[in-house]
Amino acid sequence: MGRLKEKPKSYLRTTIGMKKSITLLDKQFDLYIPESEILKAVQKVADEVARDYRDEVPVFIGVLNGAFMFVADFLKRYQHPCELSFVKLSSYRGLTSTGIVETLLDLPEQVAGRHVIILEDIVDTGRTVQELYHMLAGRNVKDFKIAALFYKSEIYNGEYPIDYFGLEIPNRFIVGYGLDYNEQGRNLRDVYQLNKPSMINLVLFGKPGAGKGTQAAFLKDRYNLMHISTGDVFRFNMKNGTELGKLAQSYIDKGELVPDAVTINMLQDEVAKHPEVSGFIFDGFPRTTAQAEALDSFLEGRDMKIDATIALDADDEVLVARLLERGKISGRSDDQDEAKIRYRFDEYNQKTAPLKAYYHGQGKFHNVNGIGEIPDITARLAAIIDTL
Ligand code: 5GP
Ligand code: MG
Repeated sequence: MGRLKEKPKSYLRTTIGMKKSITLLDKQFDLYIPESEILKAVQKVADEVARDYRDEVPVFIGVLNGAFMFVADFLKRYQHPCELSFVKLSSYRGLTSTGIVETLLDLPEQVAGRHVIILEDIVDTGRTVQELYHMLAGRNVKDFKIAALFYKSEIYNGEYPIDYFGLEIPNRFIVGYGLDYNEQGRNLRDVYQLNKPSMINLVLFGKPGAGKGTQAAFLKDRYNLMHISTGDVFRFNMKNGTELGKLAQSYIDKGELVPDAVTINMLQDEVAKHPEVSGFIFDGFPRTTAQAEALDSFLEGRDMKIDATIALDADDEVLVARLLERGKISGRSDDQDEAKIRYRFDEYNQKTAPLKAYYHGQGKFHNVNGIGEIPDITARLAAIIDTL
C-alpha cells in the first residue's frame, strides 16, 4: 500500500517546473507529493478496481469539485467498459460549518441495479462518505464501493470501509491536483501541504453573560483565530431546523447541556474544515472534566493542543442584569427568565469548577477580571495570550 506517513521530505525532489513552495491567497504551501507519485497512486487504484470489476460495467461517480482531476486520470487508466457520472456535495458554511452536507447535484437514475464506485479525491473525517452512503441507500444499487485517492486514516472516524485508496497521508491540509484552498490551487499538478506556523488554541469560559462572545470577536481578528461557540452553532442549526438543531433544541430549552458525543462531532468538523486559521477559541465547551479530556484527546489526534484556558470572572448580580437586558433584545427565551439564568449559573458552578482544577493541573489556567470597559478586558486577555 502506498504509505506516506510522516515522510514528506522524501518527496521534496525538485524537478524543472515544480516549485518547492507556493503562495495561495494568504498561505504558504510546500511541495509534498509530486505528480509522478500521484499518478502511480492513481494507477494502483485503477488496477485494484479493474481486478474486481473488469468483467462488469460499473458506474463511476465522481465527487465534484475536488475529484475532477483524479476522475480524469483514473479513467485513462481504466480501459474496460464503464459509465461515468458526478455528484456535488457541499458543507453549509454559515456562521460556522456544522458537518451538514448539502446535495447540489444528485445521483443519476442509472445507478439502480448497478455496481457503483464512488471516486473521491480525499477522505478526511468521513462525513462526506457517510452522506454518500445515505444518498445511495434508497437507490437499489447492486453494490457500491468507495475509491479515494488520498486517505487520512488517522482521523477518519466513519463506520464504513474505504475500499480502495491511493495514498494514506497523515493529518495535513493539502492542495493541488483538484484540491483547493478557498477555491484556488485546483490546477496545480503536484500536491502541496500547508506550511503551518504554530497555533494558539484557547478555551474561554465564564458564566452566561460574562462577555465571552464579545471578547472572542476581538481575539479572533487580532490573532486570526476561529471562534467556535457551541451554543451559537446549535442555535444556528435550531433556527434552520436541521437534525442537529432539533436534537439540541430539547436540551437547550431546559437550560441543559447537549450530549457530549454530538458536540464533539460538531467540533471535529469545525476544526477539520478550517485549516486557514491560526487557532481556535473554544467557547461553551468543555464544561465538564470528561469533556476536557475528550477535547484533549481529539486535539492530540490532530497534532494540536489547548495552550491556555481563560476564565472571565464576573459577579452574579451584574450578570443577571446583563442577561435580562440581552434577552429583551435577542428574544432568547433562556435569557428572559431569571430563574433559568440562575439555574445556568448553578450548573456552571457545579460542573465547571472542576475544570479549573483540571487546567490548573496542566499549568494552563488563567483568570481575568471580566468587569470593566470592553477594550480593557480585551487588553487583559491579550496580555496572557502574548506570553504563550
Ligand atoms: P470529510 O467529509 O471526509 O471530512 O472531508 C472530505 C472533503 O473535505 C473532501 O472532499 C474535501 O473537499 C475536503 N478536504 C478534506 N481534507 C482536505 C485537505 O487536506 N485539503 C483540501 N483541499 N480539502 C480537504
Ligand atoms: Mg471533495
